[in-house]
Amino acid sequence: MPTPLPDQARAAQLERDLRTLVRFIEIYCKGKHPQDLRKPVNLKTHDVVTLAGHEVSLCPECQKLVTHALVKRSTCPMDPKPACKHCPNHCYHPTYRQKIREVMKYSGKRMLLTARLDYLIHYFF
Ligand SMILES: [Zn+2]
Repeated sequence: MPTPLPDQARAAQLERDLRTLVRFIEIYCKGKHPQDLRKPVNLKTHDVVTLAGHEVSLCPECQKLVTHALVKRSTCPMDPKPACKHCPNHCYHPTYRQKIREVMKYSGKRMLLTARLDYLIHYFF
C-alpha cells in the first residue's frame, strides 16, 4: 500500500492541480473558442481569481467543464492521488472526461511551445 501524504502536501498538491486545470482550460478556450462570448468565471465552490492569479473568462461550455473539473479534483478520495489516467475510479462524467483530455493535449502542447520559446530567447539573448 502506498503511504498517504501528509495533509500539508495534499493541500499543496490539490492547489497546484486546481491552478493547472484553470490555466489549461483558459488557454484552450482562448485558442479554440475565440468567437464565443466569454464571461468571468465566478464559482461558489472555488476562488478562481486567487487560483489563477487573475480574472478568468470562459465560454459557457468551458465554464461547465471547469466547474466539473474543480469539484471532482477537490473531492477526490484517493490518497495518495494517482494520475487520473491511472486511477481505477474514473470519477469524471464521460463527456467531461473526453473534453478534459482534449484540453490537456491542446494546452499542454501550447505550453511546451511557449516554454521552448522562452528557453530559446534566454539562450540567445
Ligand atoms: Zn470555451
